[in-house]
Amino acid sequence: MTAQIIDGTSIGAKVQEEVKQAVAQMKEEHGYVPGLATVLVGEDPASATYVGMKQRTCEKLGIRSIGHTLPADATQEEVEALVAKLNADPDVNGILVQLPLPKHLDEEAVLNTIDLEKDVDGFHPVNIGRLAMKGRNPLFVPCTPAGCMRLLKESGIDPNGKEAVIVGRSNIVGLPMAMLLQKANATVTICHSRTKDLAAHTRNADILVAAIGWAEMITGDMVKPGAAVIDVGINQKEDATKKRGYRLVGDVEYDSAKEVAGAITPVPGGVGPMTIALLMENTLRAAQIALSKK
Ligand code: NDP
Repeated sequence: MTAQIIDGTSIGAKVQEEVKQAVAQMKEEHGYVPGLATVLVGEDPASATYVGMKQRTCEKLGIRSIGHTLPADATQEEVEALVAKLNADPDVNGILVQLPLPKHLDEEAVLNTIDLEKDVDGFHPVNIGRLAMKGRNPLFVPCTPAGCMRLLKESGIDPNGKEAVIVGRSNIVGLPMAMLLQKANATVTICHSRTKDLAAHTRNADILVAAIGWAEMITGDMVKPGAAVIDVGINQKEDATKKRGYRLVGDVEYDSAKEVAGAITPVPGGVGPMTIALLMENTLRAAQIALSKK
């Protein structure tokens, strides 16, 4: 059996198109244009690339993008002062502080400073806390796990009553993903680096999410036949046939897993395009919240 390929590129494009239309409608009906402020501290090339992609997507969808760059040696006070200024700016609906921050900065304290209603990354402890609690809903859900849930939904995969296994428990992917699947009535198991006999858990999963950061760690023999496999990982693998000397692979060994799974996301073209699409959707939502208070 060869799995259904979950096409994140086309599902992400559909989400972006929906956001674009809603932004145009907001502008026409209310004369209001959503704004996303990005905060980049330092010159890490990967972070600069991610921020650039987010800014370009904003422009494509009619969202105003306001970029702020601070030097790598910016102090805690300087970063927090910038966030406070953006909190007070009525033209800014969403604030995105690109992580990771340089090591000398207290990331949690910076995230804590972001106004809850502008927390479009969904990393504020109150938003995460609401996500964890029964009967509560956060204003914003972290973009990558929200994108994974959208991929499942658009592929007709309902987590209700299913066994879901998440490999990885980071604050930005694994943990919120587990909370979302649990909210969607899956029975959830979280695996991590101390898990004994990982394969025994993954083979039990109707929905398997890999968010490890370890190239092709989950092989086909670790996948339950017919399972939905969501591969969050983005890793560089040496490849002499490529001009840049590597290619991107996920945390799942795609070729073997796709022969066993019922549905699978490719890398690239799976979860990646969803993260940015959901960031745009969260920014639109932040603008809707601001507009409703005017
Ligand atoms: P982290 O490094 O923060 O977390 C990795 C998790 O994997 C940890 O919980 C760790 O366990 C667990 N882990 C590590 N080794 C093993 C092992 N041998 N067996 C089982 N679990 C293990 O990574 P992130 O969550 O930030 O990212 C994960 C991957 O997703 C990366 O490849 C990253 O590039 C990618 N990513 C992709 C995004 C996208 O848009 N597609 C967005 C964000 C991330 P422990 O907690 O015990 O250390």
